[in-house]
Amino acid sequence: MTERLPHKGRVGVVGGGISGIACANALHAAGVDVVVFDRGRRLGGRMASRRIRDSGLPYDGRVVDVGASYFTASDPRFTDVVREWIERGLVREWTDQFVVLDPGSDPVIKIGPMRFAAAAGLRSLVEDLAAELPNVLFPQEVSSIERTSTGVLIDDVEVDVAVLAMPDAQIRDIISADDPALSVVQAGPWDPVLALVAAYTQRTWGDIDGAFVNKSAVLSFIADDGSRRGDNAPVLVAHSGSVLAARFLDEPARAIPLMLAELRSVMGLQVDPDWVEIKRWSLARPRVMHDGPFYLDAQVGICGDSWGAVSRVETAWVSGDLLGRQIASNLNPGSTSVLSLTTVDDD
Ligand SMILES: Cc1cc2nc3c(=O)[nH]c(=O)nc-3n(C[C@H](O)[C@H](O)[C@H](O)COP(=O)(O)OP(=O)(O)OC[C@H]3O[C@@H](n4cnc5c(N)ncnc54)[C@H](O)[C@@H]3O)c2cc1C
Repeated sequence: MTERLPHKGRVGVVGGGISGIACANALHAAGVDVVVFDRGRRLGGRMASRRIRDSGLPYDGRVVDVGASYFTASDPRFTDVVREWIERGLVREWTDQFVVLDPGSDPVIKIGPMRFAAAAGLRSLVEDLAAELPNVLFPQEVSSIERTSTGVLIDDVEVDVAVLAMPDAQIRDIISADDPALSVVQAGPWDPVLALVAAYTQRTWGDIDGAFVNKSAVLSFIADDGSRRGDNAPVLVAHSGSVLAARFLDEPARAIPLMLAELRSVMGLQVDPDWVEIKRWSLARPRVMHDGPFYLDAQVGICGDSWGAVSRVETAWVSGDLLGRQIASNLNPGSTSVLSLTTVDDD
């Protein structure tokens, strides 16, 4: 564990997804007084899970990942975090092999990097990262960020620096129309996704961990949640394409029949699930990435998965960690800037 330095300054982090919590951890480790606000009933943001409820299935109550499907790790600092999670039994190596399903063609196996999953769902990892933070407030929706002559007001809480760790559109909702950081988060749109959980009585599909669905207007990816989580439960999670999600964003339940029909077709299933649930992600992934690993001026910092080469869990962690260490270094002028200490490898 990192030894903490004496308290210097106060930072408010808005957003308790993995980027916000990584940022808060870096600040806390450096002795900075930090408070986290998240509007969700639980932390985790897009590393989200739901429970199967009232299904009558033998595994009722089981957790399913409905946001991020898995994560990869290549940055040395993030790899250290992942190694510790594996040692503690929180994370498992899931697979380095996905199938590519191309309607009308035979499935093709694609080898890639190791994909990691969490036995208790990916949300549990964000909760684990937050475990030693003394001030994490949720559900606590922030409605305004106002700069003052002495710092920043996060609603009515005054801090020296405010960190906004969330998608651009959510930042635009809370910062003032004349805030200098606004120009940074005016960039391109984010794609939506619908995530369909399909729970069955038994497995009727072959031995695939996950599948990219090519040339489908309906589905983009299918995960075998039983293989992912390691309990072999007959549960699939299918992600829609962004065009379908945009079409049914107001009434996602209307997309269920279309998604189920495509699931049957591409997986060659003869039966429909016994229980389904659909989760809407209006802001799933950025279409345009920002330059650099974060934004920071004297009072406001911004981090998240749109700050790096590719939008993913690791990018979000690295962005939050680097921003937290940079703010800590600014508040402790004697210490070295983190950007000279770390290179970010997003490949
Ligand atoms: C369907 C889907 C599939 C994905 N698949 C993968 C994958 O397989 N692999 C991968 O690496 N990545 C995947 N991702 C991306 C991954 O989930 C994200 O990159 C990562 O979780 C982003 O973390 P973050 O902290 O930047 O943002 P978020 O997780 O979005 O966190 C933002 C937080 O801010 C909070 N917030 C927002 N507004 C306010 C407010 N006004 N007041 C208080 N709190 C607020 C939210 O509640 C949220 O907790 C996927 C995402 C989705 C949606």
